[in-house]
Amino acid sequence: MLVEVAVAAAVRGTFTYRVPASLAGEVSLGQRVAVPFGRSPRATGYVIGFPAAPPPGFELRDVAAVLDTFPPFTPKLVELLRWAESYYLVPPGELLRAALPPGLNARGGAAGPDRRRVEYAAPAPGAAEALPALARARAQRAVLDYLLARGRITVEELKAAFPAGRAALNLLVKRGLAVIDAETPVVERGLLPTDDRTVELTGDQATALAAVTGAFGTFGTFLLHGVTGSGKTEVYLRAIAAARAAGKGALVLVPEIALTPQLSGRFRARFGDEVALLHSGLSDAERHAEWLRLRRGEARICVGVRSAIFAPVEELAVIVVDEEHEPSFKQEDGPPYHARDLAVVRGKFEDAVVLLGSATPSLETLENARRGRYRLLSLPVRVDDRPMPRVELVDLTGRPRARRGEPPALLSAELQAALAETLAAGQQAILFLNRRGYQTLVLCETCGAEARCPDCSVSLTHHARRGLLLCHYCGRSEPMSGRCGACGGVRFGLGFGTEQVEEACRRLLPGARVERLDRDAVSGAGDTAAVLARFARRELDVLVGTQMVTKGHDFPGVTLVGVVMADTSLALPDFRAAERTFQLLTQVAGRAGRGADAGRVLIQTFNPRTPAVARSVLHDYLGFAEEELAHRRALAYPPFARLMAVRVEGSDEGARRTAEALAEAARPALGEGTALIGPAPAAIERIRGKSRWHLLFRAGGHQPLMRIHRALAQVAHRPPGGASIRFDMDPYSMM
Ligand code: ADP
Ligand code: ZN
Repeated sequence: MLVEVAVAAAVRGTFTYRVPASLAGEVSLGQRVAVPFGRSPRATGYVIGFPAAPPPGFELRDVAAVLDTFPPFTPKLVELLRWAESYYLVPPGELLRAALPPGLNARGGAAGPDRRRVEYAAPAPGAAEALPALARARAQRAVLDYLLARGRITVEELKAAFPAGRAALNLLVKRGLAVIDAETPVVERGLLPTDDRTVELTGDQATALAAVTGAFGTFGTFLLHGVTGSGKTEVYLRAIAAARAAGKGALVLVPEIALTPQLSGRFRARFGDEVALLHSGLSDAERHAEWLRLRRGEARICVGVRSAIFAPVEELAVIVVDEEHEPSFKQEDGPPYHARDLAVVRGKFEDAVVLLGSATPSLETLENARRGRYRLLSLPVRVDDRPMPRVELVDLTGRPRARRGEPPALLSAELQAALAETLAAGQQAILFLNRRGYQTLVLCETCGAEARCPDCSVSLTHHARRGLLLCHYCGRSEPMSGRCGACGGVRFGLGFGTEQVEEACRRLLPGARVERLDRDAVSGAGDTAAVLARFARRELDVLVGTQMVTKGHDFPGVTLVGVVMADTSLALPDFRAAERTFQLLTQVAGRAGRGADAGRVLIQTFNPRTPAVARSVLHDYLGFAEEELAHRRALAYPPFARLMAVRVEGSDEGARRTAEALAEAARPALGEGTALIGPAPAAIERIRGKSRWHLLFRAGGHQPLMRIHRALAQVAHRPPGGASIRFDMDPYSMM
């Protein structure tokens, strides 16, 4: 008996081994085995096939041991991984390893908490009238306020907002102002989970759901385009309930779980321990335990981030990709795959329905819908006839500069007034700026020398709180000094980041409780959840932050969203810059006015007429997309062409020579309809002391790119000057 094995190493191709008679009964597809490889007597590998005959001219060696009692990968997953390996040009073993939870080798993972019973809290009838009586019991008042805004919610969700809220909740129950009940979600054949009785779907939701469930059993992809707050999640939940009622499994991919604890809470509330969560906020042992529950079929619904596309859910009826436009579905370090695109491939292999949801679908997905490859489902309005937030532009051009070194209108008069008004009304605000730190540029007044990272070709960012100059690419830091290192002259800073916005906010609103949410202010999922929880409890008035504040949070108290500078993401050297800007603006605007009070959004910008900005004011996704697609078509960029990036890193000389050798080797393979852009130094020419070069290949389809890839094999195998080469199919990062 022979097996084809992918070795868990950065080597191309697969290898054939002989299975000794003693192991013949144990080997199956998808299993991990130990094999002799090179000089190693026991390398880990994965069985991915059973060849009939050995490849000629090789001496066969024996499989040394079988490592799993049952295979970690289902046959369907092996098929998916093999597809991904050849499409993304990734060594198969590397992808297989990345697809497994990191704790797989820690045998006998933790059992995990008992999730069978789900507890709910709800305000008691008439509790609203008792609110004033709680004036002095602040914790209880806050909890009751929260319950009144949301109705019946899981205690888990309540605790996400109020980590110590259990005590206050118990006191409220004692006073007869709140009730707690517990139930075991019943998910059996033919039974809908209990929660489904609580809301009645809108007509649009019902239409979308019927289309999705009507397609169960065959492969088909749907784009669910729904404005923020239109009830997309409710459609996912119902579709999954229908899948479970038919005895099938479901997979839900989300961009980020730490930033959206409410979302996983809603799945838990609906499906109890049928749900397994897979994300990096879990310990390795927890992740392994969740993964095993799926593999054993104890949990049939997986909610997870990007790598969960490889989760071992069997008999999938539906794969949901929430916020399908999010760049985080593309893996940038490690094997470069796109989880949303793989979701569609997996759906095809498993005869499952794929449901891609977004308020701002990626242009790739929209174009697929327009060509009839995906079916378009729309939720054009918010549920309960809640209005979309009112968006206003604050044109920053031509405003007088306050003082030298001070940015013009960090917080414009308009934004200042809106903040003051919001806080006076007892409501909350979010301020968004896509740049960390205090000042993004530090210059010498005398000689003009700029503080730059010696290892990366970028300027250092001044982080005032920590008194550091920091490189955002390699993490290098040095103490901030007011004097120039070269000439001793006085230094000054330009360009502002979230730290400076926070400071300006505190200065402007002395009594306000202001907090910052970015990678400097918080570290790890726990911290992030804690800040979000304090904001949800209304212990904070203003939350200042980077993209982290734009995600799917649902804070009923937020009535003002301020975008400090819409232009930061527009200026990137990336053909998707306008699309990304439109997405960010729409997403952050969607945080406003989700409660009973209407929301207001102020966007400060130097480019008020640029379509990404102007159309976001009108909530006009389709108008923006139409215009942007015309651009892309004219310039032959995706979705009207396919791209393959080749990223070269090495010494100045090695990287340059390798890039040139690649271009030379590619030339004969370039035909009609294909083009090479470059080779050129990357937008960031140097990171961590390594010189970087890019080649970008463009073609009408995937096949010509594969032809080019084959032409590059020789150079890629032995790059001149010891440079390294990475292929990136359908690239997202242009930096
Ligand atoms: P989205 O995912 O599109 O942002 P959600 O599914 O989160 O929207 O819905 C927004 C809010 O409306 C949630 O609080 C949700 O519970 C509620 N909701 C969703 N569908 C309905 C409905 N049919 N009737 C009443 N409320 C609904
Ligand atoms: Zn650096």
